[in-house]
Amino acid sequence: MATKTSINPYNGAEIKSYKTHTKTEIQDILKQADKRFYSWRETAFPERKKLMLNAAAELKKNTKEYAETMTLEMGKPIKQAIAEIEKCAWVCKYYAEHAENHLKDELIKTDAHKSYVSFEPLGVVLAVMPWNYPYWQVFRFAAPALMAGNIGVLKHASNVFGSALNIEKIFKRAGFPDHCFTTLKVGSDAVEEIIKNPIVKAVTLTGSGPAGAAVASTAGKNIKKSVLELGGNNALVVLKDCNMDKTIDICVQARFQNTGQSCIAGKRLLVDASIAEKFIKKLIVKVRELKSGDPMDEETYIGTLAREDLAQDLEKQVTDSLDAGAKLEIGGKRQNAYFEPTVVSGVTPKMPMFNEETFGPALSVTTFKTVDEAIELSNDSKFGLGVSIFSEDIETAEKMAFKFNEGAVFINELVKSDPRLPFGGVKKSGYGRELSEHGIREFVNRKTVYIN
Ligand code: NDP
Repeated sequence: MATKTSINPYNGAEIKSYKTHTKTEIQDILKQADKRFYSWRETAFPERKKLMLNAAAELKKNTKEYAETMTLEMGKPIKQAIAEIEKCAWVCKYYAEHAENHLKDELIKTDAHKSYVSFEPLGVVLAVMPWNYPYWQVFRFAAPALMAGNIGVLKHASNVFGSALNIEKIFKRAGFPDHCFTTLKVGSDAVEEIIKNPIVKAVTLTGSGPAGAAVASTAGKNIKKSVLELGGNNALVVLKDCNMDKTIDICVQARFQNTGQSCIAGKRLLVDASIAEKFIKKLIVKVRELKSGDPMDEETYIGTLAREDLAQDLEKQVTDSLDAGAKLEIGGKRQNAYFEPTVVSGVTPKMPMFNEETFGPALSVTTFKTVDEAIELSNDSKFGLGVSIFSEDIETAEKMAFKFNEGAVFINELVKSDPRLPFGGVKKSGYGRELSEHGIREFVNRKTVYIN
């Protein structure tokens, strides 16, 4: 009997073992999902809206219950886990209120008596999701997908099955008909067959590059739509005319929230050489203040990483960068799945902390002499998810925006997701967009209707 076990990364204790679904069970779940699609797509927007608002209310009502599961399973500090659940309620509410408008027929004047585009659901969509935001990553897919009339099937990361089953429960408690949203308890080895299954019409994946490449190639071979939200190596570009104290606060949050395990985290700090010394000094004071500890403690800001192997990977990237000549400013030590908040300066583009994604609480610092050099350094990455620019000269900063090869440019703010704005990347960060009107239109058939 195959099982997947959730382990608390803070203390190594086993939380629960889950029996994985067999091939027959998977086929049965997909069949039920497909059957449900034909009635779900007929529901009117007010009905879907009512249920999605119920989901938002359920998330608000039992925030603590859902947040605690995530904290136990992947080490996210409880305060941040609660904020994540609240954000999920926001995305449900957002799509409940806006989906109908996002998907209304688009009239287009042609030679026809009437011609328009209608946006119709595709059917069963598979979501392959990661553990770093175990609810948010799923809800930002599920809320628009369900509102568009699709059916969601989730294959969550193997270490967060408790959270995955909670999500299924949330939709059930909200009153969604059975099989509108189902969690498959399967490992990554089952994904290829699921994508190939004719019932599955499209797939979305958030996760690493190799996982994205595997999923997208199976989808491609089977002519199925895919959306990929992969890694990032965002730069924090600090110009000499920035508001230093404010910028430092934002940079610390950008790198260290969620214990650094975020695709859009600011991983590479690029700072003007003329202010670097003062900036780093002040930054370190703030990093030293970050409170590490038991993720269940409300005071904790830095938890453990989600698994010990992830902390080991980070340790190697930091150590290799130091061996290559970088300077440790603070932190640098690992204990099991915990990694100290770390700042490393003197990082060059050849070092792992610059040219690889670091998925944990470690910030690399590189200096530049001109703005053109800063742009070049920022773009010197295989990823293209986002960048933050810090300057009091907003006009000039805005003019720079188009020079960055990124899915998002944020000025005087950390890169963050917002239901109202599209989210996604270019280059190895993936393709397609989530959230906003752009996200809900990813998994629809844009049907041309022509009446003569
Ligand atoms: P993965 O990309 O391996 O896991 C993400 C999801 O993809 C999980 O559900 C996983 O399933 C699944 N998956 C993995 N390999 C395949 C495959 N070949 N075919 C189909 N599905 C697959 O992330 P890791 O947990 O290994 O983390 C490694 C690195 O990935 C991190 O250090 C970070 O750099 C990056 N990452 C990026 C994220 C982001 O937000 N963009 C989120 C998480 C990780 P299973 O758990 O069963 O293996």
